[in-house]
Amino acid sequence: MTPMLSMTGVRKTYSTGAVQVEALRGIDLAVAEGDYLAIMGPSGSGKSTLMHIIGCLDVPTSGSYELDGTDVGSMSEKQLAQVRNRKIGFVFQQFNLLPSLSALRNVELPLIYAGVPAGQRHERAMAALARVGLGDRVQHRPGELSGGQQQRVSVARALVTDPALLLADEPTGNLDSHSTDDILELFAELNAAGRTIVMITHEQEVAGRAGRRVFIRDGLLSSTDALASRDTQGALR
Ligand code: ADP
Ligand code: MG
Repeated sequence: MTPMLSMTGVRKTYSTGAVQVEALRGIDLAVAEGDYLAIMGPSGSGKSTLMHIIGCLDVPTSGSYELDGTDVGSMSEKQLAQVRNRKIGFVFQQFNLLPSLSALRNVELPLIYAGVPAGQRHERAMAALARVGLGDRVQHRPGELSGGQQQRVSVARALVTDPALLLADEPTGNLDSHSTDDILELFAELNAAGRTIVMITHEQEVAGRAGRRVFIRDGLLSSTDALASRDTQGALR
């Protein structure tokens, strides 16, 4: 399989005054095209830092990162913005929809940034909303939709540019269990259709729906959650 993204020895150190925080301490990660990966880890373990680097919102302090065949480690801010727009669809816990715009306008936004002509924008946004089952809600504003529907709008917005990678940060964190199922079902369908997905979650059940899982702790990845299995054994004793 073609690697969609690969990281080698990625480190990220934040300097705040005299204090240095090593948020990532040497991450090696490969995600193949068509993969569905869940990244799990406790608060403060480096999940958001890793997500920001995967999503080209930030660059590593050292180490290499290639996304869809492009070395993003040495890119300028402008180049990173282009990569984000063209290659990545973001889904956030808080939906991040613009409240004054209809679902349709929200979904059109990434296409405006990408310079897609108006007629095509409308058509593609309508298709993306239909894809997530909201073809009959395109003129609704976020406030007129349920949480689950709002998250489906944000999935449509993420997909409308046909990105190489769907990157989701706690996508079900603000949803009830019914809407959570709904979104996870949608992700499963998208993945079955070939979409590469990386999802950050601290919920075991949510991570269980992904194709595979990795765990981050103190800025390092492992394929098994050492602490959780120790806790489980402790609880069994
Ligand atoms: P998580 O998302 O798993 O909770 P983060 O990636 O947000 O973890 O944070 C990892 C570590 O890096 C934490 O110790 C946090 O305090 C620190 N950190 C995160 N962002 C910054 C920042 N912008 N400046 C300084 N330290 C940060
Ligand atoms: Mg975080």
